[in-house]
Amino acid sequence: MGCLNTRFSNFQESLIKIQNGREYTIEDVDTLLKAEGEDSEALFAAAFKIREQEFAKKVYLRGIIEFSNYCTKNCLYCGIRSANNIQRYRMTIDEITAAVHEIKDAGIGTVVLQSGEDPWWSPERIITLIKSIKEQVGITITLSIGERSREEYALYRKAGVERFLLKIETTNKDIFAKMHPHDCLSQRIKCSTWLKELGYMNGSGCIIGLPEQRARDLAADILWFRDMGMDMIGIGPFIPAQNTPLEKHPPGSTFMTIKAVAVARLICKKAFLPATTALETLEDCGQLKALKAGANVIMLNFTPQIYKSNYKIYSNKKAIKLEKALETIEQAGLTRVID
Ligand code: SAH
Repeated sequence: MGCLNTRFSNFQESLIKIQNGREYTIEDVDTLLKAEGEDSEALFAAAFKIREQEFAKKVYLRGIIEFSNYCTKNCLYCGIRSANNIQRYRMTIDEITAAVHEIKDAGIGTVVLQSGEDPWWSPERIITLIKSIKEQVGITITLSIGERSREEYALYRKAGVERFLLKIETTNKDIFAKMHPHDCLSQRIKCSTWLKELGYMNGSGCIIGLPEQRARDLAADILWFRDMGMDMIGIGPFIPAQNTPLEKHPPGSTFMTIKAVAVARLICKKAFLPATTALETLEDCGQLKALKAGANVIMLNFTPQIYKSNYKIYSNKKAIKLEKALETIEQAGLTRVID
């Protein structure tokens, strides 16, 4: 009697459970990811509130340098997969160090060094690079060079690398196997576990919109990030890359991507969550929406112009400039951290 109006919907019940960190299940996470209309607005507002509570108004900038596009792997979605006939490059240590200087000069305190899986960059060469950067620039280093041995990860940590980014891409075994013909989900999980054990600030993430992926798979991804205690979680939409087996597959939904960012914020409260370049590539103001739904990092590209066009992990990739990022941060009512 009269309780009809006060009864919570499934969405509200799930939101309250997750917000309060009370016992919740994968069904609750799935329900939030399926929110539409007013419910999705409520989800974004709840995530923004947690962001505010944990990080005040701060947004962190990172500078990424894509220092090699050689890759031994053949991921079906990726434009730099080994089977793709593109012009390959490797930057020299001097070129990389010069780009790191630019990052530091822009008041950015972290460089992300990313490459394909390129064995030419042996442990010796990587260590030389790390030392050169640490001695000449003095900046926090995030490595994103793919799967390596535990011993190698230990060497880089010892040489002073603080963070590592290795996205799981998807925790669904079958989708993972289809997307990565020569790889194994359990090995990638092992790598992430090593990185955690070695004391890295540990980064993961997933791609939204892979073939056959459902909201429930994304819910499982987010629960896995929680269980692994991930410090950084990059959630970005799939974007078709030319001359890959998925070139005709439709791009991932930006709406679902933003909802996944919001849910990740509710569940992994203290994580660094980038408003990804991929999101902005698919939708103008995509990054703004992500910031308003709980994201707190923007990555700027410092790969020199001559190489940038050959690091097309997906097609029509946008290059986010500092001015644009600052404008987006301001529009979200947030402030940039100078570190
Ligand atoms: N070799 C490194 C870096 C890979 S490229 C590694 O294995 O970690 C960096 C990220 O780009 C990948 O983790 C993947 O999530 C993303 N990516 C690659 N192709 C993509 C595509 N077509 N659409 C969206 N994201 C893509």
